Amino acid sequence: MDTITVGTQRLIHLDLKGAPPKLSFFEKFFPFIKDIGATGVLIEWEDTFPYTRDLIQIGGLSNSAEASGAPYTIEEAKQLLELATDSGLTIIPLIQTFGHLEYVLKHDQWRNLREVEAYPSSICPSNSETMPLVRSMIKQIVAFHPNLQYIHIGADEVWHLGLCASCSKRLLTAKHGKATIYLDHVTEVAQYIKENFPHLKIIIWDDMLRNVDVQVLQEYYIGTLVEPMVWYYNNQETFNLGAALWDKYGAVFSNIWAASSFKGATSSCQILPINKHHVSNHDAWLSELALHAGKIINFRGIVLTGWSRFDHYATLCELLPCSIPTLCLCLKTWLSGSSSTETYNSVSKMLGLTENPIQPDVVHRPVVNISSPLNFPGWQILVGFEWFFNVRLKYRNIIDSDQMNTWFNQWQVLNNYTNPMQIETILPVIADVHMEILSLENYLKNHLQAYFYPHTIEELIGTLILPIKQHLRQLKCECEAQMSLGCRIRGHKRLNI
Ligand SMILES: [Zn+2]
Repeated sequence: MDTITVGTQRLIHLDLKGAPPKLSFFEKFFPFIKDIGATGVLIEWEDTFPYTRDLIQIGGLSNSAEASGAPYTIEEAKQLLELATDSGLTIIPLIQTFGHLEYVLKHDQWRNLREVEAYPSSICPSNSETMPLVRSMIKQIVAFHPNLQYIHIGADEVWHLGLCASCSKRLLTAKHGKATIYLDHVTEVAQYIKENFPHLKIIIWDDMLRNVDVQVLQEYYIGTLVEPMVWYYNNQETFNLGAALWDKYGAVFSNIWAASSFKGATSSCQILPINKHHVSNHDAWLSELALHAGKIINFRGIVLTGWSRFDHYATLCELLPCSIPTLCLCLKTWLSGSSSTETYNSVSKMLGLTENPIQPDVVHRPVVNISSPLNFPGWQILVGFEWFFNVRLKYRNIIDSDQMNTWFNQWQVLNNYTNPMQIETILPVIADVHMEILSLENYLKNHLQAYFYPHTIEELIGTLILPIKQHLRQLKCECEAQMSLGCRIRGHKRLNI
């Protein structure tokens, strides 16, 4: 497809609020994505940015980041930007200015700025301390990034609007209800940037504008202030943005972006990306633009989002190294104008996945012994998580098995009412998986430390490995204790195990 239809920008989103990689990863990742066709990166620093002075507690220089081994120092963040620039990638920072501000509003220092006292998601746009904070954050971000052309001010999913006492009062006379509260704040932030950094173009996520009437958007001259980034992560079967949306955005905005996803958009605790879903999302975007690009004055291009968490408090989803094959498939689909069997074959070949190529219909690949290194940064981590997926499946199959539920359930163990004939076959299976998870833990710790900081490794192991390891150890001890007890009558004296 031509560049009028698909634009010229192909950005990769780096969601650093979860599992932010070390520079050793970016050294390899940036040249790699440049080679496969990316033109830039959209960097969502969130709590990893080295904010200073009055904002120091928000980011990588805070006491809590230091205590947990979380990044980034000023030097590291600078190097990260230099590495991206050296690879010829455009850099666009993303900074939330309305919703998804948990990383700021969770601190006591800014708790009074919450729209809803109990929830740290959205900031109150009526509080007189809000704009000074937002301005301060923007100022630090802009000053840190040399040669910026764009800044993304987030503003998606503002769950709580018009709820505090001040905003409720404003709502009583607001001409367009909650849309007024939303647009007043977004335009104030955008105007601040226009006045102080006139060279910057401003991007926002589009979701909060989807249900606002075209006349209201025009009344705010929002099209002269910001460029919407239309995010949509559904697959082809369920992709439904609708013609009316493009009519509206085409009438209001001169410049429009699209956002697809290559990870972090299916299950909120997904371990490995579902290739078929993300490839289909890109096919759907291509079809959508083929239909509606004529309504857009200037389509800038696409950002392939790669979410690391669904929000600040959510657990980690797919890691970046685990998602590189999917990213390659998505970018290849975009550049080719559609996906095909050839997309999967050529990406498998490029990445060295010849023994076990990526298949469209296989969600999780079987673990195979890798005889030669693969051709992408962090491939050992992908191999580790494919291994984890299989070990977890083995574990769940044991726990859910008829044999366990029939002859070794918790009631039976508590009452010492078990038959060694059954335990003799249960124990070796549990012991095997227990040994395997210990090996996997060592493997993951070993390979994760090459590319991730201690706080990420601790979270991953604590979330995924430890609960299984501890449960298997407990079951193993119970098996051994029941074996030593022998077969007894119901209600035999409780063992101390
Ligand atoms: Zn408020």
